[in-house]
Amino acid sequence: MITKLKDFLGLDIKTDKYKKSDDALFGKVSNFKKPDEWVRSTCGYCGVGCGLYIGVKDGRPVYTKGDPTHPVSQGTLCPKGLTEHEMVDSTNRITTPMIRKDGKLQATEWDETFSTVSQQFKEIQAKHGKGAVACISTGQLLTEDFYTLGKFVQLGLESNNYDGNTTLCMASAVMGYKQTFGSDGPPASYEDFSHADVIMLIGANIADNHPILKLHIAKNKKITGKKPTIIVVDPRHSKTANMADIFVPLAPRSDLALMNGLCYIILEQGWEDEKFIAERTSGYLAFKKHIMSNYPPQEVSHITGIEVKELYELAKVYAKADKALSAWTMGVNQSSIGTDTVSAICNLALITGNLGKEGAAPFSITGQCNAMGTREFGFTSSIPGYRNFASGTDRAIFADIINVPTELIPTQRGYAYPQIIDAIDRGEIKALWIVATNPLVSFPDQNKLRRALKKLDILVVQDAFMSETAELADVIFSAATWSEKEGTYTNSERRCNYAKKAVEPLGKTMSDANIVIEFSKYFEGKHELLFKDLKSSRDIFEEMKRVSAERLCDYSGMSYELIEELGGIQWPCNTEYPQGKKRLYTEGFKCNTQDGRAKLLAVDWKPLAESCNPSFPLTLNTGRTVEQWHTRTKTKTISLLNDLAPEAWVEMNPKDADKLEVKSGDRITIGSSRGEVKNIIVKVTEVVREGDAFVPFHFSEQLINSVIIADFDPKSFEPNFKQCAINIYSQAHPEGIEQKVKISGELSYQSIQTTTKYIKEKEES
Ligand code: SF4
Repeated sequence: MITKLKDFLGLDIKTDKYKKSDDALFGKVSNFKKPDEWVRSTCGYCGVGCGLYIGVKDGRPVYTKGDPTHPVSQGTLCPKGLTEHEMVDSTNRITTPMIRKDGKLQATEWDETFSTVSQQFKEIQAKHGKGAVACISTGQLLTEDFYTLGKFVQLGLESNNYDGNTTLCMASAVMGYKQTFGSDGPPASYEDFSHADVIMLIGANIADNHPILKLHIAKNKKITGKKPTIIVVDPRHSKTANMADIFVPLAPRSDLALMNGLCYIILEQGWEDEKFIAERTSGYLAFKKHIMSNYPPQEVSHITGIEVKELYELAKVYAKADKALSAWTMGVNQSSIGTDTVSAICNLALITGNLGKEGAAPFSITGQCNAMGTREFGFTSSIPGYRNFASGTDRAIFADIINVPTELIPTQRGYAYPQIIDAIDRGEIKALWIVATNPLVSFPDQNKLRRALKKLDILVVQDAFMSETAELADVIFSAATWSEKEGTYTNSERRCNYAKKAVEPLGKTMSDANIVIEFSKYFEGKHELLFKDLKSSRDIFEEMKRVSAERLCDYSGMSYELIEELGGIQWPCNTEYPQGKKRLYTEGFKCNTQDGRAKLLAVDWKPLAESCNPSFPLTLNTGRTVEQWHTRTKTKTISLLNDLAPEAWVEMNPKDADKLEVKSGDRITIGSSRGEVKNIIVKVTEVVREGDAFVPFHFSEQLINSVIIADFDPKSFEPNFKQCAINIYSQAHPEGIEQKVKISGELSYQSIQTTTKYIKEKEES
């Protein structure tokens, strides 16, 4: 039976490894249903963008298997992708619109929800101004959904207080690319992992968060004839660090200083690429002066905890590579200096000529399945098609394309996500429409958030799944989810993938785009103005093509059929690049800056906003695990995933565990100046260093974001999720840990010998 099941699912069953994983992967065989048809689509979880087939039986999804022809995933899927069909009909689904009556959410009809909400939105806007209604959306939507929603909020409701949960995950990458290249847009392809001589992963635990990318690294040796040197820069020895040839266990959030320090050594040693700098960059002299004046290796060693000798060896390995690829995710982005850290990574790539060629780029890996699509067609930090709110020309051209008065286009960005919460708390925003995101678990400033939400006149939640936030809603718009609607997702490498509709929406649910279009009919003239020609996702896609034509994120050469045929298309796609383009900023491909060159920017490391202190002497790092997705609204009812990761845990170094007299399996409390989280299970491990702790953020039952600091990047508004001062309280030591206070920039970390060992081995070989 198992063999048949594996054959049927198209998986390799020849190895024992697969045989052993059968039960874990597919659970109860008696539940197996043979699909009537397979529908080719794209995974709706993360930014890798794996291709898959959805098995459909009796009109519902019953299996998921990898698409062997898809260029990204080549037939493989991670545990979330393999169980994605279970999410669709889970017990957690919202199947009907709801309104709170007598204190309880009660099922109703669409007309009642739309009438109620539209009436309240109009009254609030008449009394408090257009901006008193705000919206927070998500990178989980299809681009067609997201474009439609943004268009309605900005041009229908005429409120520019609109942002996405993407501000919590990749806004720093957007702003960093903008300040360096003049535009957002990751310049690389996943296949660059297969061509690079050196791969430097900075704050990127891809083994947990983007596991399928390892496929592309694994192919490198076969393609290049030699194994690439993998450098992992991370305070925590994550699963990804197990792949490293060089592990750089730097002090928390000292990555910007490390990048600047490497630039110093490269410039000092004359290892820079003079030709590339002269022909393709601007600002070199001022940049060099800044680096040479402020980031000598001794200083950088002091900040990062990495020995000077190791800094030199690291700089040499990177600078001497023909092709160096730097990739990062949340460890870099989720920082109050995230934007500048992104530019520092770009600086390092630019002075060594690692841009616009196979295997060489500064590459931001996105979190959500469609974080990139929201960047291209945002209506949040920019006008769709990477246009600028402040540019009269951009506004006029955009208005002309979609046939609305130019005056309707906002002249500036409204509040970003954390600013929206602030404005609610101040009483300025009275109505909030939250779409497919769950701030009651994911937002860092939980005290303020909960206080603010209580002040709203109306909270509308649009989602396919019940969540902690939806439970507070006054009105719920019930949404269709992955497999129930048609559209596109763009992955981290700018690949626009086709997500096909496989089944009808469950119960009384509608696609997010249809909800918006139907809702717009309750606002006089808005439907006719904005949506009268948009009758299907294909119509919306055609408008997106017109909006993006001749822009960097050009979709004009795409069609759903071509995307499906090619297994996704990397923008720009137009007459010049009819099948898309693998890399940006190749020879002759200009940046969106005045002189067409990339900018070398002087950016500075800053100490943590909250240093450790006698009351809170430990540094908390938060992150993810491969088995769960975000706040678990989609994964908490999937038994396989929950069996693998049923609750949060805290990783503690054995020395800290000794001080608290705890062992793995014991339960402790974590506290900061903002609150406490009780009943967290202990994992004693050397993965984290003495004085550090790590907790995954997914679990509302152990709400770790209630202790996180509310500190944001002033350019991207991204929260500093990764470092704050905490204490841990055990039964034997209810007073917590007392230890020598560790202050960022003043502590000399004991260097882990991985780097030295690697260098020695290299020298010997
Ligand atoms: S790696 Fe990401 S896109 Fe691929 S199957 Fe897993 S969750 Fe889906």
